[in-house]
Amino acid sequence: MVIILNETAPEIEVQELEQFLSAYNVQIKPTVGEHTVIWGLIGDTSKIDLDTLLTYPCVNDVKRIQEPFKAANRKFHPEPTTVKIAEGIEIGGGHFQVIAGPCSVETEEQITEVARDVQAAGARLLRGGAFKPRTSPYAFQGLRAEGLELLLEAKQATGMPVVTEIMSAAHLPLFKDVDVIQVGARNMQNFELLKELGKQDKPILLKRGLANTIEEWLMSAEYIMSEGNQNIILCERGIRTFETATRNTLDLSAITVLKEKTHLPVIVDPSHATGVRRYVESMALAAVAAGADGLIIEVHNNPQKALCDGAQSLTPGQFENTMKKVEKLRNFMISEIF
Ligand code: PEP
Ligand code: MN
Repeated sequence: MVIILNETAPEIEVQELEQFLSAYNVQIKPTVGEHTVIWGLIGDTSKIDLDTLLTYPCVNDVKRIQEPFKAANRKFHPEPTTVKIAEGIEIGGGHFQVIAGPCSVETEEQITEVARDVQAAGARLLRGGAFKPRTSPYAFQGLRAEGLELLLEAKQATGMPVVTEIMSAAHLPLFKDVDVIQVGARNMQNFELLKELGKQDKPILLKRGLANTIEEWLMSAEYIMSEGNQNIILCERGIRTFETATRNTLDLSAITVLKEKTHLPVIVDPSHATGVRRYVESMALAAVAAGADGLIIEVHNNPQKALCDGAQSLTPGQFENTMKKVEKLRNFMISEIF
């Protein structure tokens, strides 16, 4: 339920309303906009009578929210959310960022070299997996704790905030200095993990599950938000369809649907969505054109030798070219379209 308050309501009237609501055991989430104050009510609101609410002089309007996601709902929070990652690095609400780096951290030279290359090309955040969710238990599983150390060394060397995937809440102490914790597609519905991440104050990059609907994805965001952490960035990374020409099918329409349904920022991963290096650039540009708040792109300094996802990894040179086009398209959109 959403209550829209009268702009000029005196404090005493607002307190009366608060008093009335306190009997229903609901949480009030206020959003203060430029001209309106909206209260999102979280909890069981079924017993609250709409007409009674409308009798309070401070109430302008009341709406029931049909969707099961509340905190993530745009009706609760009409302004887009900006997630702050580090000083001067934000995503959402008009702030666009590119996250780049290898699928997996492999060696100190590899991660530091790629970090410097992607930084020089304009990426502001570094990605690199240490705990890898591989389909086969015999495949490279990531360097785990050592991989995180190497990633943090690259952070030190370049000053770039880092994004890396968590697979178990038991590993959280190792993520102390990580800037953005990624929840991979395979863990999008690992509800116990989501609840633990809800208790953290770090931004969470929540990837869409391989075969999950937008509503299920937003319910996963809701799991994190309902525990307190509101800093969520959604990442469309392609879904399973009957198509085999690409690794997944990039659901670009998810961007536009999400912009309507939620205030959370949305970025796109064209690397996992296509699985094919030569398709990455056009899908990155398409995502920008569709209004994404950012991109996450895999880059490797020697893709042929990559221990994971080499086929979809751009070389630093290819990444630099892609970045130039992304920048041009963004500038064109800002100056000519919006
Ligand atoms: C990754 O980012 O390397 C990854 C494993 O992504 P996803 O969870 O989208 O497959
Ligand atoms: Mn990968």
